[in-house]
Amino acid sequence: MRSVARYILLIDIVLFFAGCRPEASSVSRQLLGTTVTVTLSADEKNRDVLYASAFGEIEKVQKELNLYDPESCISIINRDAFYKPVSTITEVINIIDRSLEISEITDGAFDITFASTGKLWDFSRDEFTPPSDDAVKKKLGLVSYRNLRLDMRAGTVGILKKGTRIGLGGIAKGYATSRAVAILRNHDVKGAIVACAGDIQVIGSNSGRPWRAGIRDPRGPSVIGTLDMYDGEAVSTSGDYERFRIVKGRRYHHIIDPLTGYPADSGLVSVSVFSNDPVLCDGYSTAFFVLGAARSRDILKSMEELSVVMVDEDMKVYVSGRLKGRITFRGDLAVEYF
Ligand code: ADP
Ligand code: MG
Repeated sequence: MRSVARYILLIDIVLFFAGCRPEASSVSRQLLGTTVTVTLSADEKNRDVLYASAFGEIEKVQKELNLYDPESCISIINRDAFYKPVSTITEVINIIDRSLEISEITDGAFDITFASTGKLWDFSRDEFTPPSDDAVKKKLGLVSYRNLRLDMRAGTVGILKKGTRIGLGGIAKGYATSRAVAILRNHDVKGAIVACAGDIQVIGSNSGRPWRAGIRDPRGPSVIGTLDMYDGEAVSTSGDYERFRIVKGRRYHHIIDPLTGYPADSGLVSVSVFSNDPVLCDGYSTAFFVLGAARSRDILKSMEELSVVMVDEDMKVYVSGRLKGRITFRGDLAVEYF
């Protein structure tokens, strides 16, 4: 599917290619369970080769991390690593290592063993019945990143508790974005965007003009603010409005609080994290969503490389002081810089 668009509307972010004469163009494909869009500025030559390389790389990531493929590295770990440490490829060892580091810093709010809850929070089926408290409690004991043993030297992963499973869904899209961007840079690309749904990184500019992004309104069709993005900048948004069901007035969504085993209920409805590393953006947007505004602000004090836009359920917006002057917010919103 190929489209030359004036703008593309993405899951969490809107990118505008306004008014430039030769238009940038985009190709979208369904990968990683979502829509992946690669955009190239009009200056890029050999576009078919570039699209094929970028999507090829994302396909590789999908193969490595896909829970639904019994032969993926992650499925093999989940099947065997309790019985003996499983030797796996460096890429997977490294992304698990990075996940564990985010778990340590966020006190376990980001935790890839959330996947031990299995099908309790599966929103892919038409029928969704919230699980019983007992069912949640049973699985909760399996959720802890401390149940994992990574041996970097040996290149192995071990699982210490029977039934503990891992899932990289909270970081895979950022990781895939970074890998596709690296490939495009190898091809000497000077203007591009890779967007795995709301996980985005930009290269260079749109024929000399900055790429422009909009942060989606978590409770409406428009955007809450727009900003220009420059070479290497990345953003990821986590929200409760993408995969969810409302049952008896309660919203059940896909970001799980590892402490309770239930969908996080921190008072935030959307978190966007900006940095130059899509993996950090993705992991921390999930973690901050779980932690809520106050605890996230505490952690952010010692994390110079991250900036955030957090929206709470009253549509109050909390923004890193570093972003002041960069984002134009919609006039009706209460915005607090910190
Ligand atoms: P999105 O998928 O909407 O971009 P996120 O990046 O926040 O949003 O990822 C949500 C996904 O992360 C879930 O679908 C699930 O696969 C996984 N996940 C859910 N809760 C956690 C958690 N506490 N820590 C790590 N990963 C999680
Ligand atoms: Mg995430």
